[in-house]
Amino acid sequence: MSTQQEQGRLWVVATPLGNLGDMTPRAREVLASVDRVAAEDTRHSSRLLHHYGIETPMVALHDHNEAQRVEGLIAQMRDGASIALVSDAGTPLISDPGFRLVRAAHAAGIAVAPVPGACAAIAALSVAGLPSDRFVFEGFPPARQKARRDHFAALKDEVRTLIFYESPHRIEASLQDMVWAFGGTRQAVLARELTKTFETVLSLPLADLAARVATDLNQRRGELVVLLAGASEAATAGDGELRAMLTTLLDYLSPRDAAAVAARLTGERRNRLYSLALEVHDGLQRDA
Ligand code: SAM
Repeated sequence: MSTQQEQGRLWVVATPLGNLGDMTPRAREVLASVDRVAAEDTRHSSRLLHHYGIETPMVALHDHNEAQRVEGLIAQMRDGASIALVSDAGTPLISDPGFRLVRAAHAAGIAVAPVPGACAAIAALSVAGLPSDRFVFEGFPPARQKARRDHFAALKDEVRTLIFYESPHRIEASLQDMVWAFGGTRQAVLARELTKTFETVLSLPLADLAARVATDLNQRRGELVVLLAGASEAATAGDGELRAMLTTLLDYLSPRDAAAVAARLTGERRNRLYSLALEVHDGLQRDA
């Protein structure tokens, strides 16, 4: 029986998100020295390899063939071949194929080594200005509105910073559903085309970000990451603005009606606004 030393190794290699300057020397060395590169899209990755004069043979490993390909690749590594896994951009397995292959390599006792580099979620978090000590990566939200709203609603009390990937043709609808689920005052960040020519990082309350994206076609172009402040951060950040709005509304309306109007205007939850309206109302009575 072969030992782990005689077996090959699986390298999980990150590639740039767009700017070739982010390709690490170690990624180049590994891609040049392995027996085979397993790529999500061989045509796409062969352009990257050619750019560096690397001629390692490639094999396609994408969502539709991963289950069938894994066995063969594991057999090759058992026989001593080393394989590098790459995706179209960034870190494999992060909203990209490769999980089955990595899991199978572990099960077969084959060493798996990372060659770290770019990842859109982490790059976006690093420039978002939102709490970064604890965060949740949610990948792509569901495509259908009902499922998407349910998904967001289930996350509305999450206290960690939330990170989503989204496509240009769904970003507008997705942001609107976020306003519906999380309220309009929560701080949000849209990180677009990171490391590329049209890189933009917009940091706005969620309702303002949704409005900006709805009216500015450029903000819907390219590759997008959306980040949201976690629930406790949102509560602290939004309270001042909501209290000011409720103070004005309470000149004309009861706390219940003021909360209902504010909920319509901001997308914030009515219960939260009603509690705030009662607090503001009590404060106004005391000061009168
Ligand atoms: N594995 C990749 C990574 O490490 O980030 C992610 C692959 S996923 C299929 C592609 C999504 O990542 C895009 O739809 C977008 O949400 C995000 N993304 C990739 N490149 C990006 C960039 N340059 N700027 C912003 N987001 C990016």
